[in-house]
Formats: sequence, structure tokens, C-alpha cells
Amino acid sequence: MPDYLDSCIFCQIVRGRIPATIVYHDERATAFRDAHPSAPTHILIVPNQHIESLTELEDVELAGHLLQVTRQLAKQLGVENGYRVVTNVGADGGQSVLHLHLHLLAGRKMTWPPG
Ligand code: 5GP
Ligand code: ZN
Repeated sequence: MPDYLDSCIFCQIVRGRIPATIVYHDERATAFRDAHPSAPTHILIVPNQHIESLTELEDVELAGHLLQVTRQLAKQLGVENGYRVVTNVGADGGQSVLHLHLHLLAGRKMTWPPG
């Protein structure tokens, strides 16, 4: 079994091995609530397959699917006042979990530029 299945927290969440509040799941993607939310609504959308970051995301269909899941969730969650989608990449980008994820943030006024 590949090492990341044991060491990667998001691989474990996708496989139901550690608990999370799952809000969406299909054969390619899973979305769940962030354990330490940075906004009233804070969802993480991840590919089920272990892909480290946007840099390694070569599958154009999967990239499109992750964005479609994100916009559908935004609709479902009723965040009609607006929302922000962020993916942190690498150490300087502020990525702390090395499994690609889109942050969907909403429920408060966002500021710019981000820190
Ligand atoms: P990053 O810093 O990599 O862009 O984002 C990682 C996100 O994952 C953080 O917002 C953090 O709160 C969240 N996170 C880390 N560990 C867990 C976990 O075990 N469960 C959930 N639901 N979220 C987590
Ligand atoms: Zn993983």
C-alpha cells in the first residue's frame, strides 16, 4: 500500500478512516468542513486520489470537476453574498496539508490582499 494512504490525513478522510463532516462525495472528489474554520462557512474540496498540490494537477477533467463541485456547493450552501476559493501551494503559499484542496470560504466579508 502506498505510504501516503497512511500518512496523509486527507487520504484518510476520503476513505472514511478518520472522521470529518462530509458535505459531498462522489467517485472523484470529496468535500468536508475544515476542522479549524477561518470563516462561518469553510469547506475543503479534495480529489479522492492523492495529488500533492495544484502543481501536480495535470488531469484537466479532474480540475474542472473540482471547480464544478465547488460552485455547486456554494449554491447549495446559499452563500449568495459571495465567497472565496483559495488553494495554497507549497511552503511559501502557506500549504500545510500536502494533498490538493480548494478552500471554499464564505459567511463574512473577505479582505484583500490576503496575508
Ligand atoms: P492549508 O494550510 O494546507 O491550505 O489548509 C489545510 C486546512 O486543513 C487547514 O485549514 C486546516 O484547518 C485543515 N485541517 C487540517 N487537519 C484537518 C483535519 O484533520 N480535519 C479537517 N476537517 N480539516 C483539517
Ligand atoms: Zn492524500
